[in-house]
Amino acid sequence: MDWMGRCVGNKVRRAMSEAEIGASGLARELGMAEGMLLVRLVAPSTFTVAELILVSAVLDCDVAGLLPCDPRRSICALTGCR
Ligand SMILES: [Zn+2]
Repeated sequence: MDWMGRCVGNKVRRAMSEAEIGASGLARELGMAEGMLLVRLVAPSTFTVAELILVSAVLDCDVAGLLPCDPRRSICALTGCR
């Protein structure tokens, strides 16, 4: 299941750079310790769905874009996710 954490971490990092928000800023908005956020961004840890919904609200993006790629597909939508 490590690919899932890697995939979600990649998507959140991409959304963070698009929103021009760093880890400290996002952690503050989420009310999450920055260390916890950094752990979440790296496999094998991953965000819970509730956390992803909050992340999407803070970053003003679609939560569906932060969910892991469909595991039934052989190739991840993001290069290097898997
Ligand atoms: Zn992916």
